[in-house]
Amino acid sequence: SCSDNLLVHVDEKGCQLCLTGCPLSASMRDGDIHEAPVFLRHAMGHRVPVMVRVSPIFDAENQIIGAVESFSDNSLLIDIQQRLDEIAIKANQDPLTGIANREAIGRYLQATLTEINLLGLSSAILMLDIDHFKLVNDTYGHLVGDQTLRMVTNTVIKNLRSGDRIGRWGGEEFLIVLRHIDYAHVSRVAEKLRILIAASVVPVGAEIISVTVSIGATLLLPVDTIEQALERADRLLYASKQNGRNQVSVG
Ligand code: GH3
Ligand code: MG
Ligand code: MG
Repeated sequence: SCSDNLLVHVDEKGCQLCLTGCPLSASMRDGDIHEAPVFLRHAMGHRVPVMVRVSPIFDAENQIIGAVESFSDNSLLIDIQQRLDEIAIKANQDPLTGIANREAIGRYLQATLTEINLLGLSSAILMLDIDHFKLVNDTYGHLVGDQTLRMVTNTVIKNLRSGDRIGRWGGEEFLIVLRHIDYAHVSRVAEKLRILIAASVVPVGAEIISVTVSIGATLLLPVDTIEQALERADRLLYASKQNGRNQVSVG
C-alpha cells in the first residue's frame, strides 16, 4: 500500500488516497482507466502536485491481472488553471477600482432589460459623471485623481442594495443598474448617492478634497434597446451638467 511507503498520496483535502479511494484498486476492480490529481511527498519532504493515471492490464482471457500507474508533474496544469481564473476575473473587472468594467456592466444591463421584457419588473439606470474632474488631476496630480475615482466607487458600492451594480463606463463616468425599483425611488437613490459623494473626501497630505457628481437617471422601459436606455440616461446627465452640475435629472 502506498501509505506504507515514502510517497503517501493525499488529495487536496489531505485525505490519503489508500483510505478514501485508491485509483489503482479501482482500475483493477472495474477495468476502467482512473485518474486523480494528488500530492506526493518528495524525498526532501515537501508536497508535489502530480496527476496519477492508472490503466488496467488484461491477460489473453481478458482477466485483469494488474495495472500500470503513471505519474506526471501537475504543477504546470495547476499554474495554467490559476492563470485562467485570474484572466476570467480581469476580463470583467476595471483594474483601478475593482468594479465591473464597461463590458461587464453592459452585459448586466442587457440581462436586466431581458428580465424586464420577460417578467415586467421595473428597473433603472443612473449615468454618473464626476464634475470638473480634469481640475482634480491638474491641481493634485493623476494619483490623487485615481484615489478620487476609488473613493467615489466605494461610496456608491457601500450604499447600493445587493442586486444593484456599478460599472466603470469610461474615464470618470459610471453606469449604475438599480434593480426592481419604481420611479419615486429612482430619484431618491440617485439624490442620496449625489449627496453622499459630495460629503465624502479624499485625504491629500494635510488637506482633504471632495468632488461632486452629475447624474442622469431613467427607468428602463420594456421597449428599450440597450442603446436607447443609455442615450436617454446620457441626455439627462448632459442636462444636469448644463443646469450647473452637482444635480440629478430624472426622466
Ligand atoms: P465635466 O464636469 O464637464 O464632466 O468636466 P470634467 O473635467 O470632469 O470632464 P473632462 O471630460 O474634461 O475630463 C475628464 C478627465 O478625466 C480627463 C481625464 O484625464 C481624466 N481621467 C480619465 N480617466 C482617468 C483615470 O483613470 N485616472 C485619472 N486620474 N484621471 C482620469
Ligand atoms: Mg466629468
Ligand atoms: Mg466624462
